[in-house]
Amino acid sequence: MPPAPARRTFSGEEHLKLEEIIQEMGRNSIRWAAVVKRLAEAGFAERTAKSVRNHYLRMRQFKRMQPEQTNYCRICKLPQRGHVCLGKKKVAPPKAVVGDNSEE
Ligand SMILES: [Zn+2]
Repeated sequence: MPPAPARRTFSGEEHLKLEEIIQEMGRNSIRWAAVVKRLAEAGFAERTAKSVRNHYLRMRQFKRMQPEQTNYCRICKLPQRGHVCLGKKKVAPPKAVVGDNSEE
């Protein structure tokens, strides 16, 4: 099924492709017309340079508001940099000895 031409929201795939293109180009030398062309070449719906740019800027702003989630440990949720993971170490709680009939 071909993508609907009037589709307005970016799909996850399209967004990833957009980030890939921008990374290749360099964040400080983005040529939006070229970005649009490359997205279209990759099979995504053709957009205006303005709409792609707006999407990118919005996403960047959104990311800035959210502290980078990838920097947090998935296991213990602490900031990953230099952290000692509390989740990996399975510290077994000392078990009470059950069935100890030493009183006999
Ligand atoms: Zn951890």
